[in-house]
Amino acid sequence: MPRTVLVTGGNRGIGLAIAQAFAKQGDRVAVTHRGSTVPDGLFGVRCDITDSAQVDAAFTAIEAELGPVEVLVANAGITEDTLLMRMSEEQFDRVVDTNLAGAWRCAKRASTKMLRARWGRLIFISSVVGHLGGAGQVNYAASKAGLVGVARSITRELGTRNITANVVAPGFVVSDMTDNLPEDVKQRYLAQIPAGRFAQPDEIAGAVTWLASDSAGYVSGAVIPVDGGVGMGH
Ligand code: NDP
Repeated sequence: MPRTVLVTGGNRGIGLAIAQAFAKQGDRVAVTHRGSTVPDGLFGVRCDITDSAQVDAAFTAIEAELGPVEVLVANAGITEDTLLMRMSEEQFDRVVDTNLAGAWRCAKRASTKMLRARWGRLIFISSVVGHLGGAGQVNYAASKAGLVGVARSITRELGTRNITANVVAPGFVVSDMTDNLPEDVKQRYLAQIPAGRFAQPDEIAGAVTWLASDSAGYVSGAVIPVDGGVGMGH
């Protein structure tokens, strides 16, 4: 059955690959963007997820065009890496406000209609860094680990209403976010990956579309690693 899907940050990178995978299977797909163009076949809504009024307006626009959001993929995220002692309050807050609170704002808004429909899928894009940690990534790792607590708490709150909440934890994926890393850092990451390579964005999409499917209806509160083995299943 085709669903209405929202992928935050679905205008590029991993989010775009996820959005395209849903569109390919016939779902109605909306993506957020902050001023960029949106590929054909996807419904673009302008939205900064750090602003709850913009989140509300984006959901209202999607509801008018495609119907209530049945599947939310909270994917939008940023990094602002620097060592603990150099990290400013603003750097910490910006990353947590986007990656953790932004996902929470969207899940909160989505949940009202999911409760009414007694069906919903909430999928949070975390990172292997959320459980392994990362030097220079205190803010990012905290935000990504926090998503596990969000998904598991939602599972306890809404589990009886046919609403699931899960986390997908990618490893190193080729995207704008990782293109900016220095070559020596990339080589250090590569040396730790049993698969011996980085992932392409569409390799993350399969786990996400499966979690949204009817066959995953009894999976909730789970963390699914898609990381080439670097986290050894955690
Ligand atoms: P990109 O940097 O390529 O894309 C980030 C996306 O997030 C963009 O669509 C961007 O929108 C959006 N975004 C950022 N801030 C906001 C905001 N305040 N409001 C709305 N949208 C926002 O990242 P990736 O595709 O690599 O990453 C996607 C997700 O996957 C992130 O959560 C990231 O942490 C996670 N991840 C990535 C890994 C990797 O190796 N690349 C590994 C593990 C997890 P805009 O175009 O407007 O800037």
